[in-house]
Amino acid sequence: MTVQDPARVPDNATGRFYVNVECTDCDTCRCVAPDFFARNDEAGYSYVLRQPETEDDEDAVYEAMDCCPADAICEDE
Ligand code: SF4
Repeated sequence: MTVQDPARVPDNATGRFYVNVECTDCDTCRCVAPDFFARNDEAGYSYVLRQPETEDDEDAVYEAMDCCPADAICEDE
C-alpha cells in the first residue's frame, strides 16, 4: 500500500507548484507572494494563482513555501 499525498485544491494554476487541502487559510502565502497565491473566498483556502516564470518568481514561491505553517504548498518533483 502506498501513502497518498493530500489532495490538491481544485483552483491551482496548472503547473508544478500547488496548494493541497491541508491549507488552513492563514493568509501567509498571500502576504509573502501575492502575485502567486490567491484565496478562494467561498471555501476558505489559498491556491496557486499563477506559476512562477523567472528565478525571482520562484524565489517568491519558495519563500511562501518556507513560511507556510501547514506545509500545504508543494512542488512536483
Ligand atoms: S501559507 Fe499555507 S496554510 Fe497559510 S494560506 Fe497559504 S497555503 Fe494555506
